[in-house]
Amino acid sequence: MTLKSTFFYVFLLSFFFSSYSQTASNNEMLEKIKNEGFNNSQAIAMLGELTDVYGQRLTGSNEYFEAAKWMSKKMTSVGLQNVHFESYCDDCRGWSMESFNVEMISPNFMHISAYPLAMSKSTDGIVAGDVIYIKKYKELDSIKLKYSGKLKGKIILLGREPQRKSLTDTIFERYSEAYLDKMAKQDSAKVKQTYLPDLLKSWEADDVKEEDFLRFLESEGALAVLKSRSMYLGVLHPDGTYFYKEDHYKPLPYFTIMPEHFGRLSRMLEMNVVPKIRLNLETSFYFKPENNVNILAELSGTDKKLKSETVMVGAHFDSWHAGTGATDNGASSIVLVEALRILKAVGYQPKRTIKMGLWGGEEQAFLGSVSYGKKHFGQHDEKANIESTKVSAYLNLDNGAGAIRGLYLQNNKYAKPVFREVFSSITDLTDGVLTIENTLSTDHETFDFYNIPAFQFIQDPLEYNSATHHTELDVLEYVPEQDVIKNAVILAWTIYKLSENKELVPRKK
Ligand SMILES: [Zn+2]
Repeated sequence: MTLKSTFFYVFLLSFFFSSYSQTASNNEMLEKIKNEGFNNSQAIAMLGELTDVYGQRLTGSNEYFEAAKWMSKKMTSVGLQNVHFESYCDDCRGWSMESFNVEMISPNFMHISAYPLAMSKSTDGIVAGDVIYIKKYKELDSIKLKYSGKLKGKIILLGREPQRKSLTDTIFERYSEAYLDKMAKQDSAKVKQTYLPDLLKSWEADDVKEEDFLRFLESEGALAVLKSRSMYLGVLHPDGTYFYKEDHYKPLPYFTIMPEHFGRLSRMLEMNVVPKIRLNLETSFYFKPENNVNILAELSGTDKKLKSETVMVGAHFDSWHAGTGATDNGASSIVLVEALRILKAVGYQPKRTIKMGLWGGEEQAFLGSVSYGKKHFGQHDEKANIESTKVSAYLNLDNGAGAIRGLYLQNNKYAKPVFREVFSSITDLTDGVLTIENTLSTDHETFDFYNIPAFQFIQDPLEYNSATHHTELDVLEYVPEQDVIKNAVILAWTIYKLSENKELVPRKK
């Protein structure tokens, strides 16, 4: 054997052992993560306290801030580091519900299942009025022509009669193999794309339209507005309005009512029977900018070279106000905390710094994450800064409480091999489907804007689209314990892998 070939064999052997020991330590870590996550999970206990005790977490509200303080203490107690708040809005106001009731009192009595829309003003005590039906409000000029002088003391029934839902409709859904297969084969040429500043502007324009209409109703002396939404049996869907800043318009009492009650009222009006409604609403507005905080935490990196780089995870912490935000987005917030708790509990020393953000104001045009982005990565009209280039990836969770079935690559095909590798060791936990598709309308878009590899997970919808999303049924009953526990394990493993990887996750070109 020549000296040269001896060196060659020693080199080969050491390469074999280093990759062997790396695989062995990966396997060992995976077992530790599974053991901690499945046998010592704190996820449901935390989620129960968050949703049942603290309840709804509307942006700007005292309820949001109380929950945020509890959450930050929880993060510290499970060993997360650098737990702190960062303000995201100096001029967002708070709003809370105090009391309300809606009933039909003529031609006979019916209690109406209703919920006020956020930011509605109070009534002047108990008020009553005849119902008048306005089917469409898009063209304000024609509305003015038709209704001027006719709305004083009236209760407005607004919009088309909701579509009827049937008991045979599917409300609970887990994705089928066939559906996931189709997602995996999605053509990259057909991926939906949005440009963040345009998206934010288009939302503002919608709000202005609604404001003009509501101001007209109020100036005519209307008492309140009742609308509905096509929802499964009796479900109330009171999200909006979007008047969340201190100098924004305060809309007149504005309720969503259950589809079946809307149906009865609208059908009576078509028969020329005018129902009379009695209602009251007590809400409070306040201005406490200190309520508007993102909650940040981390597990600090320990590798000399890599600790300045980050793996980021995020979820929005705010919710709408009718339920307790269990599926949107309490469960995801807790999955994040639990994933980092698991990594801490198994004694993992991350190479890269793992940063976590629980955002406020997602439901109000991504206020929290947009503010974080501007502060840390640059204004939208500037070039993204160095800090953004150090983020390997941003992983967002905001698709309900269902099991993770894979990942939306958000049109980043270069990231596919990385996540294929991540999921290849946990085929017993998830299908690990990778689709090139982009999910829209949540906080990862903020990060994508800076060309940070930003992803959302594919999750089973369960009752999210049919019953819990932004409704009064967004409560703990619709969070399956096993899904949440498993998701935290999947996430902990994914974070671990991205923190250990030699390279950053590749960016879109
Ligand atoms: Zn959400």
